[in-house]
Amino acid sequence: MKHDRFHGRVRHSSRPCDAPGCTEVGEFRAPGERAPGFDGPGNYRWFCLDHVRAFNQGYDFFRGMTRDEIERAQSPLSGWAAETRAFRPTAGVDQAPRWADFTDPLDAISARARARADDLRKGQEAARRGINPADRRAYDTLGLGFEADRRALRARYSELVRRYHPDRNGGDRSHEAQLGEVVEAYNHLRRLPAFS
Ligand SMILES: [Zn+2]
Repeated sequence: MKHDRFHGRVRHSSRPCDAPGCTEVGEFRAPGERAPGFDGPGNYRWFCLDHVRAFNQGYDFFRGMTRDEIERAQSPLSGWAAETRAFRPTAGVDQAPRWADFTDPLDAISARARARADDLRKGQEAARRGINPADRRAYDTLGLGFEADRRALRARYSELVRRYHPDRNGGDRSHEAQLGEVVEAYNHLRRLPAFS
């Protein structure tokens, strides 16, 4: 951590900007919703440059949100849930969230513990349903639950092909490897009795 001449700026921060939905790094400190006082030292919010400027001009990103919604929007876990878990279908439940995704080590510890517990539960369910490790990898690659039927499989497959196809991404081929994994997983699963 290195402070520079911008007041409150911390370079090389790994925390995300607190503005809901923003994926920039939060390098600029702004007062949080709890002022320093009787209850303790107060807290801070961290914003990217654009959002700290907006914040300093009086824009309240959290207006109209309940306290719970604010905490959800600011939680590093919300990013993990939205990006790692739901957006990236290749992130199976056996892939624990990275420590670097969290600013609070306690969040990281509980998230990893939850991921392990989910993984264990999923392993038991797979065994009960006679799903072998190769099958399970294919389910995880597509982000499908074991209860999925033929129709759910096809819907998910076409959604992912659309998402990763270069023609749908302005010719960007960066998702090609993921697309290959999706196709392979689909071809694996569609031959299983569960999808016949
Ligand atoms: Zn931002």
